[in-house]
Amino acid sequence: MSAYKRILLKVSGEALSDPTDESHAILSKTICQNLVKEIKAVHDLGVEIGIVVGGGNIFRGKLAADLGVERIKGDQMGMLATVINAIGLEGVLRSAGVPACVHSAIPACQAVEEFNAERAKKQIAEKTVVIFAAGTGNPFFTTDTGAALRAVQTGCDVFFKSTKVPGVFDKDPIKHSDAVKYDRLTFGEALEKNLQVLDQTAFALCRENKLPILVFKLGEEGNLMRAVQGESVGTLVTDN
Ligand code: UDP
Repeated sequence: MSAYKRILLKVSGEALSDPTDESHAILSKTICQNLVKEIKAVHDLGVEIGIVVGGGNIFRGKLAADLGVERIKGDQMGMLATVINAIGLEGVLRSAGVPACVHSAIPACQAVEEFNAERAKKQIAEKTVVIFAAGTGNPFFTTDTGAALRAVQTGCDVFFKSTKVPGVFDKDPIKHSDAVKYDRLTFGEALEKNLQVLDQTAFALCRENKLPILVFKLGEEGNLMRAVQGESVGTLVTDN
C-alpha cells in the first residue's frame, strides 16, 4: 500500500554520477540503474511519479563567474545540463520497461517536449514517469524551486527531496558527529529553528501550498519504497 498517490521526486545531478569513477562519466551506469530499480518498484505499485533532475554533475550557474562567463549564460548552461541528465534518465527508465518522457522548461532539442503543465499532469495520471528538466526555465533559480513548482502544478501529494544525508539535522551531520536528526517538523518549526530544508523560494512555495516535504537519502536500497509506504525515513515537513 502506498501512502501517496502522486509524488514529485527531486534528484540532484551529483547523485547520478560517481566521483570515484576514473572514466569521469557524467552519468554512472550503476547509480542510474539502481535508481531506476527503486523507481520501477514504486511505479509497479501504481504510484504516479514526476521527477525533477538537477545538473550539478555537469555545470552550476555560480561557476560561470570564474570562467568570465556572465551569470545568466551560466544558468542557461546549468539548465541545459539538467536536460542532458533528464534524457539519460528517461533512456534508462525506458530500457527497464518504465514509460517515461521529458518536459523541458526551455526549448532544448527535438529529444524533449516543451513543458506543459496540463499535458504533464495527464501523462503522470496515465502512469508515464514525467521528468522535468531545466528547472523553472529562468536564471537565478534552483532545481529545488523548479521541483516545488512542478509538484504544485501537477497536483503531487508530496515533494520527495533526496539528499546526501538522511534528513534534516539540528547541525551539519557531515561536520558534527553529535548532530540530531528530526523525524518530523512543521514549516513553522523549520523556519523558527532556521533549518535548511530547501532553498527559501522552494520552501516558501511548499509552505504556501501546504505541500509536505520529505527529506531523505535515496542511495540506500529500498528507501524510496519505504518513503512511499509512509515508513519513517528521513524528515517529514508538514503544515501541522
Ligand atoms: N538553474 C537555473 N534555473 C532553474 C534551475 C536551475 O538557472 O530554475 C541552473 C543553475 O545555474 C543551477 C543549474 O541550473 O546551478 C543546475 O541546477 P542545480 O544546481 O539546482 O542542480 P543540482 O544541485 O540539483 O544538481
